[in-house]
Amino acid sequence: MRKREFLLPIERCPICGAKGTFRVKGRIDHIPYFGEIMETFANCTSCEFRHADVVCLGERPPLRYEFQIKSEEDLKVRVVKSSTGTIKLPELGVTVEPGPASEGYVSNIEGVLNRVEGAIKLAIKKIDATKRRRGQAKLKKIDEVRAGKRKTRLILMDPFGHSTIVNRRAKKRELTKRELELLREGPPR
Ligand SMILES: [Zn+2]
Repeated sequence: MRKREFLLPIERCPICGAKGTFRVKGRIDHIPYFGEIMETFANCTSCEFRHADVVCLGERPPLRYEFQIKSEEDLKVRVVKSSTGTIKLPELGVTVEPGPASEGYVSNIEGVLNRVEGAIKLAIKKIDATKRRRGQAKLKKIDEVRAGKRKTRLILMDPFGHSTIVNRRAKKRELTKRELELLREGPPR
């Protein structure tokens, strides 16, 4: 199926109120074994607001996907991560939870690792030496996963079912009630 693209006409920027500077580009695509998804890219040339997201069209239950990253070849596996999705790399001690500025994207496992790496690099700039060492250890492990020298599971949980790992080896099931509660509560404060 061909990709369909569209542009939403929005008169004023909802963030800064400027006229004719805000636009939303959309793209509808078909993901095998998942269905139709819609990617959106919003940006304002006046206040430089930008946001990207992806949702699936149609109802989905809360879903959890689990995939074992075993080789360099696995880096090519396609991933749809909505702004509502939580990423876990349990063997690396990494969890990325959706925050207010959380974005959605269509990428592959390599792209997910790059984004996780970027988030850790940003976070360790602002913390004390002990935590920084822990962050650097995680970065080293990510490098090893990328080189096919370390295995880890990639877990993707989405209470709205908008996220998926597109591969036959990905194990899919509905989220349990307890898992849903923990996702809604967010990180411990
Ligand atoms: Zn604006």
